[in-house]
Amino acid sequence: MEHLHSGEAKHVCDSCGKNFSSKSNLTAHKKIHSGERPFECNVCHKRFRQKAHLQKHETTHSSATPYQCTVCDKAFGHPSNLNTHMATHSTVR
Ligand SMILES: [Zn+2]
Ligand SMILES: [Zn+2]
Ligand SMILES: [Zn+2]
Repeated sequence: MEHLHSGEAKHVCDSCGKNFSSKSNLTAHKKIHSGERPFECNVCHKRFRQKAHLQKHETTHSSATPYQCTVCDKAFGHPSNLNTHMATHSTVR
């Protein structure tokens, strides 16, 4: 159900309650709920299948090691450390 305020209309996702300034943003966002990973991290936009996994992941952003590898979930305190680590995943050949 959409409630229109005087002025700016809010577009709220009925699956996760997230707010969007335009309908097209909301429509694009809603696609993630039809996939297998409906829960998205607000910080790094990584997606998760279960809310508990997202909540566990979100703690990494508030900890001393907020930079998390998207491949193996190892976390680092500095982006350059993460970059160095990420290089180990991209060894082609
Ligand atoms: Zn949503
Ligand atoms: Zn994240
Ligand atoms: Zn890694």
